[in-house]
Amino acid sequence: MTRLVRIEGPGDPLLLEAAALLRSGGLVAFPTETVYGLGADGLNPEAVARIYAAKGRPSTSPVILHVAGAEAARDLVAQWSAEAQALADRFWPGPLTLVLPASDLVPAIVRAGGPTVALRCPAHPVALALIRATGRPLAAPSANRSQHLSPTCAAHVASSLGDAPDLILDGGPTTEGLESTILDLTGPRPRILRPGPVTPADLAGLLGPVEVWAGTADPTLRQQAPGMQARHYAPRAELRLVPPGAGVASTSERVAYVGFGVLPTLPEGVRGILLPLEAEAVAVRLYALLHDLDAAGFDRILVEHPPAGEAWLAVRDRLGRASAKEQP
Ligand code: AMP
Ligand code: MG
Repeated sequence: MTRLVRIEGPGDPLLLEAAALLRSGGLVAFPTETVYGLGADGLNPEAVARIYAAKGRPSTSPVILHVAGAEAARDLVAQWSAEAQALADRFWPGPLTLVLPASDLVPAIVRAGGPTVALRCPAHPVALALIRATGRPLAAPSANRSQHLSPTCAAHVASSLGDAPDLILDGGPTTEGLESTILDLTGPRPRILRPGPVTPADLAGLLGPVEVWAGTADPTLRQQAPGMQARHYAPRAELRLVPPGAGVASTSERVAYVGFGVLPTLPEGVRGILLPLEAEAVAVRLYALLHDLDAAGFDRILVEHPPAGEAWLAVRDRLGRASAKEQP
């Protein structure tokens, strides 16, 4: 049976129990500032294998290791560059994941057999306290079934993963709402593999103009980066992107229509949802909204194409992938 417990803060004694569970190979779901993670001891291949089984995650998709700081990250990489140090100094703890050449310490299953490892130090007091109490890097992909919506509160975890976690730590709703930015430092130039809360503009101060991998916009390229299936982050309802102001014909299906800034006139029976023209506010609410529409039993969710511009990159990426068709 999964236990779901409320965590009051980083000093909560339940964290010691959670850390003991993790050290003995258990699965513990915990809050981060981005989304809830399904955690396991990142140096224990059997424990990490349980994550893949619980999520139904393809073995080709590597997992991120969560560490308490740059010090711990150094042991896990073959080479910790000055660039990595500068990025960690500036953005950790925070929603930036760095991809670097892996050291021999990192089990193959964490890397999905590849030569690199993805590392992040989360900016959530409970996550940091849990990592420190465990004394290991924590492998922690989002705590949901593969391809589905990421959880932004503990109830989402329980409904997606059922009894798979040994323990779920409820630290309230997450504050960023979307997954971390993934920055690949193993190529000739730094490259964003997955846009997220840390934007190209945020990185430009340290790195100059940063390349955003074309596969974030072009589904035909996505198989080229590890773990980047075209379809991901999808609600149960069919999600379709439509031109702004498109509206919807009257239908017997249960349809929700999501617009930005302004809503067109909608037929009776269609639920209209107005989101603000502010990317960060939308990012925080997006998954919770889609979870709610799923729970309410909508058949189809029509979402207007979000505005252009770099601030909207992450929201555009997630909606694009949520609307992608299942791969053959
Ligand atoms: P999640 O933790 O569910 O947000 O998923 C983690 C994502 O991180 C995966 O889907 C991969 O796309 C990415 N990732 C993890 N490790 C690596 C790596 N070594 N190289 C490139 N991408 C990675
Ligand atoms: Mg995920």
